[in-house]
Amino acid sequence: MRRLIPLVLVVPFLVVPLLVGTGARASAPPSGATATGYGGAVASVDPTATAAGLEVLRHGGNAVDAALAVAATLGVTEPFSSGIGGGGFFVYYDARTGRVSTLDGRETAPRSMGETAFVNPATGQPYAFQEARVSGLSAGVPGSLATWDAAARRWGTRPLSSALGPAAKVARDGFTVDATFNQQVSDNAAAFAQFDPTAKLYLPGGAPPAVGTTMRNPDLAATYDLVARRGIDAFYGGEIGRDIVTTVQRPPLAASPSRPWQYQIRPGGMTVSDLRAYDVRSPAPTHMTYRGYDVYGMATPSSGGSTVGEALNILERSDLRGLDKTQALHRYLEASALAFADRNRYVGDGTPRPVLDSLLTDGFAGERACQIDPAAALSKPVLPGVPDGHYATCSSATGGAAPDKGQSTTNLTVADRWGNVVEYTLTIEQIGGNGIVVPGRGFLLNNELTDFNFTPTQGTAPDPNLPAPGKRPRSSMAPTIVLQHGRPFLAVGSPGGSTIITTVLQILVNRLDLGMTLPEAVAAPRASQRNTASVTAEPAFISSAEGQALAGLHHTFTPMAEIGAATAIEFLPHGRLLACAEPVRRGSGSAGTVH
Ligand code: GLU
Repeated sequence: MRRLIPLVLVVPFLVVPLLVGTGARASAPPSGATATGYGGAVASVDPTATAAGLEVLRHGGNAVDAALAVAATLGVTEPFSSGIGGGGFFVYYDARTGRVSTLDGRETAPRSMGETAFVNPATGQPYAFQEARVSGLSAGVPGSLATWDAAARRWGTRPLSSALGPAAKVARDGFTVDATFNQQVSDNAAAFAQFDPTAKLYLPGGAPPAVGTTMRNPDLAATYDLVARRGIDAFYGGEIGRDIVTTVQRPPLAASPSRPWQYQIRPGGMTVSDLRAYDVRSPAPTHMTYRGYDVYGMATPSSGGSTVGEALNILERSDLRGLDKTQALHRYLEASALAFADRNRYVGDGTPRPVLDSLLTDGFAGERACQIDPAAALSKPVLPGVPDGHYATCSSATGGAAPDKGQSTTNLTVADRWGNVVEYTLTIEQIGGNGIVVPGRGFLLNNELTDFNFTPTQGTAPDPNLPAPGKRPRSSMAPTIVLQHGRPFLAVGSPGGSTIITTVLQILVNRLDLGMTLPEAVAAPRASQRNTASVTAEPAFISSAEGQALAGLHHTFTPMAEIGAATAIEFLPHGRLLACAEPVRRGSGSAGTVH
């Protein structure tokens, strides 16, 4: 997101860029979407957040310290996409050990949640999506603060409080409202108007904050300060936690909302003991090799690592470089559909690890690749395969479910001078989460539990993503780190609901197979085939020569203005870093390097 007006604190005789920090050498927030340099790099959607990360790197912090500063700042400046009311997945490459580790900070269902939680008992029908979303029911136990604390303790060089302090200052002093912020409030105005604390914060005087005005959030500043002083227990069971539970159980409804809302607002069952029980998990990353690169991603409850990995494995059966671009994109779309069919059938929280890993075997990928017809798109939805170890082969080496809603979330990529790398995707699910700001605390709650399937989707086969007590909803978040000869080559991630998977996949294919530079790979028009009749695609993709040729192969397209908002870093020879954010999407992102 580009802030349209550079934020400065004006004091007599002095103009100081915000987030100067403690050091003498401050720099203006990086304004570009691409940066090349040395000594560490940060890419995020927001220049204030990117600047916060660079400031930490400049003052000796490592990639984890910087990533937490970026994340805490995004919780202030991008409050509709992430924050301490949400969760996410953190992937870390440690230069000293050469190992990739992950943190699963996914939101979790309360222990009272049953399989039919999203079915209206009065009608037997699933709730409409907005009815499920704007409720206490949809809020999972948040995982972001626990993730930040775990990352700081395990891999950071400073406590979490040092990331929260500067972000609290941004919340207290304010930042400039840009067009994206204004639009995100406008899009949510009806939902936000239903709740007193949300309307007070984001609809002052009944309207979204105007572009160019200063947005302050003193309640969030105080919340960050409290956690900085007292630790995350203040949240996971302490006074902040008690406020969360009250909010979920008795949503703070406005007595006379300024805008109508057609749905009943339902309470949730989260308790303080659900908050106390929250744990950050550290599953082994998913791993597969693709054309000599080692690709590491996020395991369950995310489907990101296994689905990106399975699709790459299927694509590895084709020499994409030797094919014309239309054929390469045809394989990309078909591999995505096949991998989504398997994701929908087999992947959810609690999927046994051997099952997840079986989806990433070469044998299974070979069998799936045999289904691809170079002459025509398969009719969708394609059926899932059976990863049972007995695989058919074919001589040619060339080999359904509704797409998830959601275009929210945010992604950040950080590298430091020692070679450590963080790829972190974090979210409150929809833009604006469940629409409810916790009174007096300044942050929105997530609606992540709507990532569960509301009713079974797999016919007579079990559905791996139905609600259950203490379960985590399946995610598509796909923070990915690619190594070459054991050293970082590329780190990439994106928001975008289930299109996250195809965005990460398409960027990897663009960069590794189709001869694009990283900025070109990120900027290229996107198309997303998630095992549905029609391919969701950006208008520029549909109208391109390849888009037209793909229509000739019976691919049909549903236009979507924008897909994803990626950030990435490529590790060039001799320690050079190429940091990359979106040049246009989501109002454009912000990348910077230390030198
Ligand atoms: N809730 C989504 C997921 O975890 C992400 C939402 C989005 O990116 O819009 O997959």
